[in-house]
Amino acid sequence: MVEFFVSGTLVESYINCKRQAWFHLHKIKPFQDHPLLEIGRLVDEDAYERDFKRVNLDSIQIDIVRREREELVIGEVKKSSAAAESARLQLLFYMYTLKKLGLGCRGLLMFPKEKRKEWVILDDDAIHRVELLISDLEELSKSKTPPELEKKSICKNCAYLEWCFS
Ligand code: SF4
Repeated sequence: MVEFFVSGTLVESYINCKRQAWFHLHKIKPFQDHPLLEIGRLVDEDAYERDFKRVNLDSIQIDIVRREREELVIGEVKKSSAAAESARLQLLFYMYTLKKLGLGCRGLLMFPKEKRKEWVILDDDAIHRVELLISDLEELSKSKTPPELEKKSICKNCAYLEWCFS
């Protein structure tokens, strides 16, 4: 059985593709030279440089942490809003983790290439979604085989493309 550990990347993967999440859970690495990984790194490095403050806490790595008036704001930078739903869940997972540590905050999703921002709130529904997601991930971690291969539009940009289609 694999060690069960939820990270922000895992949450994002699960929403995009359960098979991709299974690869993550079972420590199967993507091909590191995939161009999308490199673009992701560049967006991370260049965008919002003035605000940029990466914070690492056990399972989460937050791109931006700042205080606005009396409120704590955490931000997640993404290269495109095409996968906004998974980015939203990832940020909610970070907010949920911080809440468990006694830190309330607001979330801000940023898509610098599209000059777009979106506020994310951790309300009761969102907490329920995150808890459901964690329990689904735990089930997936117990599975010995990955979910069935199902071709999706995101496959062409997925770092696991060669694992799935070669
Ligand atoms: S290539 Fe497609 S099916 Fe395979 S892990 Fe990536 S997104 Fe999922």
